[in-house]
Amino acid sequence: MTHFHIATEEEIRAGKVTDVYFLRTNEILSKKGINRRVAMEVFLKKFPNTYDWGVYAGAEEALRLLEGHPVDVWSLPEGTLFRENQPLMVIRGKYLDFGIFETALLGMLCQSSGCATRAARCRLAAGDKPLVSFGARRMHPSVAPMCERAAYIGGCDGVAAVKSAEIIGRDPIGTMPHALILLMGDTVVASKAFHEVIDPGINRVILIDTLQDEKFEAIRTAEALGKHLYGIRFDTPSSRRGNFRRLLEETRWELDIRGYSHVKIFVSGGVDEHTILDLSSVADAFGVGTRITGAPVLDYALDIVEIEEEKIAKRGKESGAKKLLRCPVCHRDCVVLLEAAEEPCRCGSTMVNLMRPMIRAGQITETLPTPEEIRRSVLQQLSWAVEGRRVWEL
Ligand SMILES: [Zn+2]
Repeated sequence: MTHFHIATEEEIRAGKVTDVYFLRTNEILSKKGINRRVAMEVFLKKFPNTYDWGVYAGAEEALRLLEGHPVDVWSLPEGTLFRENQPLMVIRGKYLDFGIFETALLGMLCQSSGCATRAARCRLAAGDKPLVSFGARRMHPSVAPMCERAAYIGGCDGVAAVKSAEIIGRDPIGTMPHALILLMGDTVVASKAFHEVIDPGINRVILIDTLQDEKFEAIRTAEALGKHLYGIRFDTPSSRRGNFRRLLEETRWELDIRGYSHVKIFVSGGVDEHTILDLSSVADAFGVGTRITGAPVLDYALDIVEIEEEKIAKRGKESGAKKLLRCPVCHRDCVVLLEAAEEPCRCGSTMVNLMRPMIRAGQITETLPTPEEIRRSVLQQLSWAVEGRRVWEL
């Protein structure tokens, strides 16, 4: 008996989260004795907003969903950066053996990739500055850890929610809520209590926008905690922001001239990649909530591209199972048929096939990378540049 409106892992594996037309399709095909071998391909026709690249995420869950079914699966490694109309995953098997999983499979990939892509954009904007996901509260708790895993692999340094942190294998990161200051009646009283009670290994980052002006609260807090104060957090409500950058600059100045230049400025609340760019000259760290966990999903499609030996696809889609080749030197991409021979790049280097066999007859054949390894790969790709120009830009 459950009171929450969620599907369990067992129900998802049993194909219960499926659109009913797949059940009807199966009923018809079964009755007519049609169970043909197909290849289906995951790809993206169009990115949301003005994006022109994305981070492929959610592959681990998708592979775990397909594991144990009589299918062969090829996939890009989770965390691969890609562009529109590139093949991301190919599934080969009899349609009736996996067709009903389309809904759940796409849901896993679409949402995870949406979060990871926005996180990667925030990472590009933030450069080397700390970036933390604060967005668990924006999603249903049953999927928040999945979203925050994607936020982490997309480039966040950490996540605030305890369960999410457990999944990525890191300690959760947090400061203090407005509730603590309201309940203790004063920012400095709350700061001192935090310093007294909380493990000294935790950085003292004090929220300074709850009751009074940020500048004066920052000065009071710095005077109270001195060298123990690691940072101050601005979560200033939008109705009070005015020129937010100026507010940060003014506070920075007042702290510096009083000898508190070690105190870092942490900004949260309505932050996205554009805010990060705007505030990057004065803010030292960013907490991003809604814009990452609630990021627009990537609208992947899963289309039939082969039936038995024939290459066939619907209108608007190239037929044939494909793979993505990428040049390790100039980073040019090339899409060719899955079985095609690899070809040299225009620059003279050998292109690398990114589409790897991941499931063979229902068995996962690759060791799946940890979130940390995937994140490292994303950061490496984000750093690529050719002739001084970034390959993946905001
Ligand atoms: Zn090349």
